[in-house]
Amino acid sequence: MPPTPFDRVILGDVVLPDAVLSDGYVAVRGEVIAAIGQGTPPPAAAVEDHAGRLLLPGLVDGHMHTSSSTGWPGIEGASMSAAAGGVTTCVDMPYDVPRPVTDAGILREKVAVVEATSHVDMALYGTITKAGGVEAIAGLAEAGICSFKLSTYEYDAVRFPRIDHPTMLAAFREIAKTGLMCAIHNEDQELVQRLTAEAKAAGRTDPIMHARTRPPLAESMADLEIFEMALETGCHVHIAHSSIARGFELAELYRRSGARTSGEACIQYLCMTEEDLVRLQGFGKCNPPFRSAAEVERMWEAFRAGQVAYVSTDHAPWPRARKVYDGDIFASGAGLTGLQSFAPLMYTLLAERGLPATLMARYCAERPARFHGLYPKKGAIRIGCDADLCVLERGDFAFDASEIRDREDARWSPYDGRAMRARVAATYLRGACIWDGGTVLARPGSGRFVPRQHRDTYLGEG
Ligand SMILES: [Zn+2]
Repeated sequence: MPPTPFDRVILGDVVLPDAVLSDGYVAVRGEVIAAIGQGTPPPAAAVEDHAGRLLLPGLVDGHMHTSSSTGWPGIEGASMSAAAGGVTTCVDMPYDVPRPVTDAGILREKVAVVEATSHVDMALYGTITKAGGVEAIAGLAEAGICSFKLSTYEYDAVRFPRIDHPTMLAAFREIAKTGLMCAIHNEDQELVQRLTAEAKAAGRTDPIMHARTRPPLAESMADLEIFEMALETGCHVHIAHSSIARGFELAELYRRSGARTSGEACIQYLCMTEEDLVRLQGFGKCNPPFRSAAEVERMWEAFRAGQVAYVSTDHAPWPRARKVYDGDIFASGAGLTGLQSFAPLMYTLLAERGLPATLMARYCAERPARFHGLYPKKGAIRIGCDADLCVLERGDFAFDASEIRDREDARWSPYDGRAMRARVAATYLRGACIWDGGTVLARPGSGRFVPRQHRDTYLGEG
């Protein structure tokens, strides 16, 4: 009896974390990868010819906010832009309006919305209430969240509270028992509030003041206190976004002392500067803010040195009206869109620096999946893994924000018009084509909730 042909074979240059298989293929059976190779592909019911293009693992974006401005209805549009951007697994933050994900019951409700409306697969963070939330930690871990998220800075007492030191210490002790990672929004509240009040009193509310009132020290001070508590408790404590190389240096210093510490770089901190904040005004506002061109270079040094856990977007699709600058930068919402531009931009930034696309497979797929306990189901081109692929066509393109596949008022981007050296020609989710380069073929509900697969802590080794 001849062997059963594969359901689908996808041809292209297969990008693995440490090698590229040129003239390769990925063969799919059901929803998983069943064979990988080079040369003549095996028989299959369907052949998808992407010869000459790069077949990367579907990207895993380890940090985004689909529901911080619009609530859970935001999942549908944001996940559609993910599909068009080659991101097949979204790891969504818990700071949702009107209710953040602070207990297992709320998590189950959000999971139902994900399963009904998401276009791509989604893992979820959990958090705790400002007071009395520590008791819910074990239940959240049991219910399948991938990681926790807490903050040293208060944006909203309910949605995004500052967790005080004694509560954070108690939370770290409890999270340590679960084996899950705890990501921290790292800004010093007192310093930022004082500098902001002084700027306002002096009548300085122009765009650059957003960066001036949140100096690098506001980050590194917060990094120090969370890492000291990590050392004390054994909890895996992770900087949710370091805009400065010092954050990665501190994470490494504490690892050497025996703590479980790490930090992630969002892609904007690898390319955007204070000049971009002045140029883009409200549309360039995010927290932490863009830094100097010299700091961007230090970020790349940290990246090359292997100090960065992974690269994410911190996608936060504010309605356009909330981003318009009207003379007061402090009034604009903080956060950028980034899902649909993630893959082309990361490829471009690496190419501009002469770095290989294999680093993208590692830092935008494998490592975020490992840190969030989703590997190897997600983040890898390996036999038995979900057949999630991001297909890149190389060439000269420009990113066009009007092409963003999200609700109308989320079709803006700090990268609008930027030259890109690649575009996403196709996306596959569990073997199915969900983006063909022009149309999102996934439907609301094509995506699934992905619970954490195991409780092993990963700190970047191996
Ligand atoms: Zn964020």
